[in-house]
Amino acid sequence: MSEMRLHGRGGQGTVMAAQMLAGAFVEGGKYASVFPTYGIERRGSAVLAFARFSDEPIREKTRVYYPEYLLVLDPSLLSKSDIYNGFIGGGTIICCGTEKDVETIRRFPVRPSRIAVVDGIRITVELTGTNITNVVMLGAFARATGLVPLEYLRTSVKEAFHGRILEKNLEALQRGYNETKVFDFEAERSDVRQEMVFEKEKYACEAPPETAYEAAWTLTNDRYLIIRTGEWRFKRPVVDRDGCKKCGWCQIYCPTHCIHQGEAGYYLPDLEYCKGCGICANECPAMAIQMKLEEDCK
Ligand code: SF4
Ligand code: SF4
Repeated sequence: MSEMRLHGRGGQGTVMAAQMLAGAFVEGGKYASVFPTYGIERRGSAVLAFARFSDEPIREKTRVYYPEYLLVLDPSLLSKSDIYNGFIGGGTIICCGTEKDVETIRRFPVRPSRIAVVDGIRITVELTGTNITNVVMLGAFARATGLVPLEYLRTSVKEAFHGRILEKNLEALQRGYNETKVFDFEAERSDVRQEMVFEKEKYACEAPPETAYEAAWTLTNDRYLIIRTGEWRFKRPVVDRDGCKKCGWCQIYCPTHCIHQGEAGYYLPDLEYCKGCGICANECPAMAIQMKLEEDCK
């Protein structure tokens, strides 16, 4: 039996990816089981799913603590040590990202024998204008592992989508397969469980000075954990100052409460907390906000 963990962000179809993958294994005559777990119920927050596949019936019902395969649907998660918890030496990491993300992974004390990367965000932005990378990453999984033929994944995708969305997803699957780059490393398979150290310094565990970011902090273990939701973003709002009427409507609608009136009376987002949901752009009566790809703004 092989065990796998999927890491994504709310809205990227992580759970659906696990279900489609299970469907493809079953289509190929294998046994599979999947189930999700949710953290805070919010678009952009971290989401986990677990999958097992085998030639034999699967009796295990627990979460996957020691995955042989990791499938990471969002590049912003690759720098989080938690996702590598328990990863088995000699396993395979398949991630949404670019070649430079291979180095990010190699900085952690994990010993994969294979890392596969595909620029899933770029592909889905080109195909659908979204960051829903689930189907692209299934193509990458097929390419990197050879465990499931692409035709069985196509069958699963056809069961999940219809019409024009189906066409786009079939294209996404194929591009995920074709555009995945595979990097191999010397690494013996090891059953030594690799525990990671929680990187406290990445988080500010203190109460926010004011309730400005009402939706961006949470109480955990009796302490306030400020969530820098800006790292969830793949698009950012850009305000056209010539078109802006300074009405403040965008501030009212922003779910993270991160828009403030600043310089010369314009309402501008704090990018450390703006999660890129696009609600302000939808609600602006003057249509003065455009959502632009992060990498085009750098
Ligand atoms: S809603 Fe639009 S017009 Fe009003 S302040 Fe915000 S950006 Fe300006
Ligand atoms: S995209 Fe707009 S509404 Fe959404 S979090 Fe950013 S500033 Fe707020």
